[in-house]
Amino acid sequence: MAAVAMDGTALAARIKEEIRSQVEALAVKPGLAVVLVGEDPASRVYVRGRKKDCVQCGIYSEEYILPQDTTQGELLALIDVLNGREDIDGILVQFPLPEHLDSRAVQLAIRPDKDVDCVHPANMGYLVLGENSLRPCTPAGVMRLLAEYGIDPTGRNCVMVGRSNIVGKPQAMMMLLRDATVTVCHTKTADLARECRRADILITAAGQRGLITGDMVKEGAVVIDVAVNRDEEGRLCGDAIYDQVAARASYITPVPGGVGPVTRAMLMENTLLAARRHGK
Ligand code: NAP
Repeated sequence: MAAVAMDGTALAARIKEEIRSQVEALAVKPGLAVVLVGEDPASRVYVRGRKKDCVQCGIYSEEYILPQDTTQGELLALIDVLNGREDIDGILVQFPLPEHLDSRAVQLAIRPDKDVDCVHPANMGYLVLGENSLRPCTPAGVMRLLAEYGIDPTGRNCVMVGRSNIVGKPQAMMMLLRDATVTVCHTKTADLARECRRADILITAAGQRGLITGDMVKEGAVVIDVAVNRDEEGRLCGDAIYDQVAARASYITPVPGGVGPVTRAMLMENTLLAARRHGK
């Protein structure tokens, strides 16, 4: 069986177009502030990408690129100002922060109703309770991809490889809330291959190139590859060995062009949702 490659780029373009038309109908534009501390070039690329997304969606955006030696007090003071501004509906702080800064204190400082990246523990709690809150963008993007391709998690065995706070845990919870039977795997899992072979829907976010081989995938399974790694030539790739896995799966997300673009679109969607909740 040759798997269908799930086209995240096309889906993201449709979502952003839909957001743009909804934003056009608002009296006041939604606003997003992106905060980056330090000079990490990859993070700068990320920030530029968010700006482009905002332009495409008609969302007002501001970027704050702060020096590496920014103090905790300075960063918290900026968040306090952004929390209080009516024109800013969403605040995205780029993590990881430099080591001298206290990430948890920063996450707690962001007003939960402006926490469009879903880093505040309150939003994670609402997610666990199944309440309609701002959702972490990557797992929300995966759910959107599944829906787009008519893949219903109900009653299916879902295996999640990875248990990070930003991907694995919320993803497992979202699949559980959609009535999948969920197994979460990590580096201490005794037999990863055996667990993966039981998956109707295999979601991998380990960040380990070549981790998922063809023989770890059940014939006809759906494989969602969240990871972003680099191969020997420096090209982007996921955790799955694409050709091997695609030969057995029914659907697979390519890397790049799968989960990544939809994740970005979900940030725009969260910003629109936050703006609506702010009465815009
Ligand atoms: P992370 O914090 O490093 O977590 C990786 C998780 O995978 C951990 O729970 C780890 O287990 C598990 N893991 C690592 N190697 C494993 C192995 N050999 N077998 C089983 N489990 C293993 O990473 P993350 O932030 O969740 O990101 C994961 C990947 O997704 C990265 O490649 C990242 O770049 C990518 N990502 C993509 C997007 C997107 O939009 N496409 C967004 C976010 C992240 P332990 O807990 O036991 O250490």
